[in-house]
Amino acid sequence: MNDFLNTSIEYLKGVGPKRADVLKKELNVHTFGDLLECYPFRYIDRSKFYKTTEINSDSAYVQLKGKISNLQFAGEGRSKRMTAILKDDQGELELVWFQGIKWAKEKIVPGVEYVVFGKPSYFNGQYNMAHPELETTSEISTGIAETLQPQYNSSETLKTKGFNSAGFRKIMRTLALMAQSCIPENLPPDLVQRFKLISHEAALINIHFPLSPEILSKAQARLRFEELFFVQLRLLRQKNIRTRQIKGMEFKTVGNYFNRFYHEKLPFELTGAQKKVIKEIRFDLGSGKQMNRLLQGDVGSGKTLVALMCMLIALDNGYQACLMAPTEILASQHFKSITRMIEGLDIEVELLTGSTRVVKRRKIDTALREGSLKILIGTHALFEDTVVFNNLGLVIIDEQHRFGVAQRARMWAKNITPPHILVMTATPIPRTLAMTLYGDLDLSVIDELPPGRKPIQTYHITDSKRLRLFGFMKEQITMGRQVYVVYPLIQESEKSDLVDLMNGYEAISKAFPLPKYAVSMLHGKMKPADKDFEMHRFAKGETNIMVATTVIEVGVDVPNATMMVIENAERFGLSQLHQLRGRVGRGADQSHCVLVTGPKLSSDGKKRIETMVRSNDGFEIAEADLRLRGAGDMQGTRQSGIADLRLADIIRDEHLLKVARSIVMELLDDDPMLEKPEHKRLTNYLRYQRRHEPLNWGMIS
Ligand code: ADP
Ligand code: MG
Repeated sequence: MNDFLNTSIEYLKGVGPKRADVLKKELNVHTFGDLLECYPFRYIDRSKFYKTTEINSDSAYVQLKGKISNLQFAGEGRSKRMTAILKDDQGELELVWFQGIKWAKEKIVPGVEYVVFGKPSYFNGQYNMAHPELETTSEISTGIAETLQPQYNSSETLKTKGFNSAGFRKIMRTLALMAQSCIPENLPPDLVQRFKLISHEAALINIHFPLSPEILSKAQARLRFEELFFVQLRLLRQKNIRTRQIKGMEFKTVGNYFNRFYHEKLPFELTGAQKKVIKEIRFDLGSGKQMNRLLQGDVGSGKTLVALMCMLIALDNGYQACLMAPTEILASQHFKSITRMIEGLDIEVELLTGSTRVVKRRKIDTALREGSLKILIGTHALFEDTVVFNNLGLVIIDEQHRFGVAQRARMWAKNITPPHILVMTATPIPRTLAMTLYGDLDLSVIDELPPGRKPIQTYHITDSKRLRLFGFMKEQITMGRQVYVVYPLIQESEKSDLVDLMNGYEAISKAFPLPKYAVSMLHGKMKPADKDFEMHRFAKGETNIMVATTVIEVGVDVPNATMMVIENAERFGLSQLHQLRGRVGRGADQSHCVLVTGPKLSSDGKKRIETMVRSNDGFEIAEADLRLRGAGDMQGTRQSGIADLRLADIIRDEHLLKVARSIVMELLDDDPMLEKPEHKRLTNYLRYQRRHEPLNWGMIS
């Protein structure tokens, strides 16, 4: 957007081509602008000068002023050291170096006044300071005052190239001096005024070299606001492009398929929340605009049914629909339950996965192109270019967090007019995060479970209580219920995990012997047909226990299963634990979840387990997860711009996020495509932010 910010970092005085390479590799810093965005992680107050006589055992980092003399050397090789004496008008302090002796020796000139900065320690009956930072008083007065001294993160590699915190400070100071009057404003003037923000330039300079604590907090406030503002602007403008420039299919009617299903097939009353979201979706589908909606609902809230009813609306309007699931197990389960639910309605449904046989696949391809096949259910296989629809009107993606933005984009291309898209997620995303993560999607929430569900009881036990656990499992089985036992298999390739699972299976098979009991096993390494077979046996109630890896994590629905045992529970993340627990509690019977761990837990592990025992509420758990892990770690955050947040924190700054969002909405209401001249700087800045991206998903993402 601007020549200054885009200037290659190697042209900065004190950097040069070699050190520029290090900055590029280590920090992805290529330009002046990139470097300015490496904000300090803290500041040290350097406005006060201590006297040597004021140093005591409470002194943390202190700054002193004086002349240095009496350089002495002792020791050899590794134990070599240099000492010197700092004298001020009150007394003396010993300075010590074990490393960087050569540098310090050259730096120290007799008779010159230095500013010395470091942490004193008490040794051999006196205070000294090891490896102090040294600057001459003339070096300090470079034009930018440094009362609050910025501290920068560094790495070993960076340090060996001279970029420790002080090294950074040096090039940063050079850059900040040059930057004055070179950085354009990126927000419209009325906004800057309305919120009494300091300028973008002032913020970028003062975040590094604040003249006072007050100006520092202004700089931080401005940059936080800016970050949140531009994330929202990007997302909501993309949404505008989509809804305004692209005409969507209009589903005018709700016809026979929907109505017959509703009146003849629906096995139960819809919950109020299901009705509400179906209404919202129906409105979207009939609006003539392309729908992009996120349907959020806790595990077991009945999203599949909503999906089916929306697909029936598509069919009623002469379109085809597809439903995509992240695993074969889940896809085939959807296929079975949907086939069963619409039996007798004369609708052709098929299942397409990676393991669909060629002959079957050809049949599906033909029927799909001709349009006789109305509903296609499957896995990633549906993304393939060879899957061609006659008239695809609605794409439903189940368990969004397994699919990325790029995949969503691929489904767009399946029709000349892009189909409506409904993304379903059972990972309850806190609203703040949803706003940022899926800010371009409209949100529908199923905030109610079907009636008659009892909250799942959750317990935590250690390995040593295994016998009692088996006793409890037997009780459940005697009552006719079924049990899941889940082992972590974080990486399908990890052999030791697979060994755990096999050992567990053996132990359980011994404790629950045939013919009285039957045990199933399921893991990712099995052939799809075998997985399917085992899942089916368990679903039909032919086996009592399902020993499995997390392949059963999402979506699996066996209402008769009332007990979930999670082994090595400390190794799972919170949202995963919640997903797994959601496999039980799907019928009217009381369900139980047992978290088994080793005797010792990390403090985070402990918090996760405690949260699970305390709460059944997916939203509360998701919030806790966010707090424990931080937003940057959440799945799907990469593309959303959350990873770009440097100062803003979507939990702490939730209020600011809301403000930023409402301002963006206001602004886009007035100028939906950002075409007004006063908004040019906004589009410029959006482009500037994406300067390192090889590929721009542009309007699609
Ligand atoms: P999820 O939202 O986790 O995908 P499912 O769609 O698998 O949930 O539904 C969970 C269970 O609840 C299924 O057995 C389903 O048949 C049942 N169900 C869905 N809607 C209702 C309802 N309105 N009343 C009773 N049971 C329902
Ligand atoms: Mg589901």
